[in-house]
Amino acid sequence: MHYNYKYRLNPPETLEEELLYHVDTCRQLYNHVLHLLNEADDIPARYEVQGRLPDLKSWWDDLGDVHSKVLQMVVKRVYDNLSTLKAQKEHGRAVGMLKWKPPREYRSLTYNQSGFELKNTSGRPTLWLSKIGEIPIHLHRDIPENATIKQVAVKREPTGEWYATFGIDVDEATPEKPQNPERVVGIDVGILKYAHDTDGYAIESPDFSEERERLERAQRDLSRKEHGSANWEKQRRVVAERHADLKHKRRDFLHKLSNHYARQYDFVAVEDLDAKGLVELPGNSRNRAGAAWGMFLRMLEYKCEREGTHFVAVNPRGTTKECASCGVSTEKPLWVREHSCPACGFEADRDANAAWNILSRGLEEVGVVHSESTPVETALPVDTSVSAKHVVETGSPTLKERTASAVSE
Ligand SMILES: [Zn+2]
Repeated sequence: MHYNYKYRLNPPETLEEELLYHVDTCRQLYNHVLHLLNEADDIPARYEVQGRLPDLKSWWDDLGDVHSKVLQMVVKRVYDNLSTLKAQKEHGRAVGMLKWKPPREYRSLTYNQSGFELKNTSGRPTLWLSKIGEIPIHLHRDIPENATIKQVAVKREPTGEWYATFGIDVDEATPEKPQNPERVVGIDVGILKYAHDTDGYAIESPDFSEERERLERAQRDLSRKEHGSANWEKQRRVVAERHADLKHKRRDFLHKLSNHYARQYDFVAVEDLDAKGLVELPGNSRNRAGAAWGMFLRMLEYKCEREGTHFVAVNPRGTTKECASCGVSTEKPLWVREHSCPACGFEADRDANAAWNILSRGLEEVGVVHSESTPVETALPVDTSVSAKHVVETGSPTLKERTASAVSE
């Protein structure tokens, strides 16, 4: 099974300079190869062009500064873009010739098979890249132990942040994942509502206040009993039972919700459990929300694996601030519940907008979306009033119906 794991890189200034220089050298090579192909009467095979790289180095000094596999991947990139273009032409789409890349459109480089290593010396993880150096990396989740890292793509986002995406192969008997998933969903685990997804569902956080009150009442009764007496012991059990009841109902809700997503979709994208929204919450509810969130993600992950649904946990950074339609980021304090983009005018519920960003990032990570267009442009309802469409409350007929067939766990 092939997966992409994406991590944030934090290069110090000197290494960032080096990265930028490497990326730009690759860009110039890309444009050079493009020029060669445009000049040629017959387009040569990719390996033939790759075979000319050593000759190129003899007069083009900068190429010698870049790892040879990285240069080969540049040639591959030109050919990949060319075949995409050809495929589009065969389908009668009006696309022009491959275009020369200016710096803002060329922001990444790829190491394939060699020239990179993930290091973790004295608890400080770094990504070593040949001819560049060791770059501090934020490993917010581990790469599976039985995985083979095939390649790593290093990219500078328009925001200036650097990311490394590891293409890994995992040797395990997992169910076939759909190549082009049709039923895709992005889920934002919100704060006021429990979750908000790209199909316009806002799933309300269930109300357990009655159970909580019963528990508190039992605890008060316990405190009035003589410690260690028979009555105290009896009451202690009541407290334990009510505790278990509350816990069971919370879990049950999370099971139903995760079953729903794992069964209804081919592809599920969520945010990786990180400091994201949690830092915006006051201490107590932060702990509770964090625990529930973590449990929900774990359930969702193993259920997706069981159902053959592709599960991706994306980097949560900026999903709320970014506009799902145009990508422009704007500051948005917690009390602003609506997303209203000053750049493009796109309006949506705050969490619905975030869910769209999560889905786009998820699809991008697995390479499903090759074009520049985001799912928002193609799949958003025309009136864009995503949030008001369906509000599913816990136990409402809709959610019940969808999860009725679900065996709990
Ligand atoms: Zn916008």
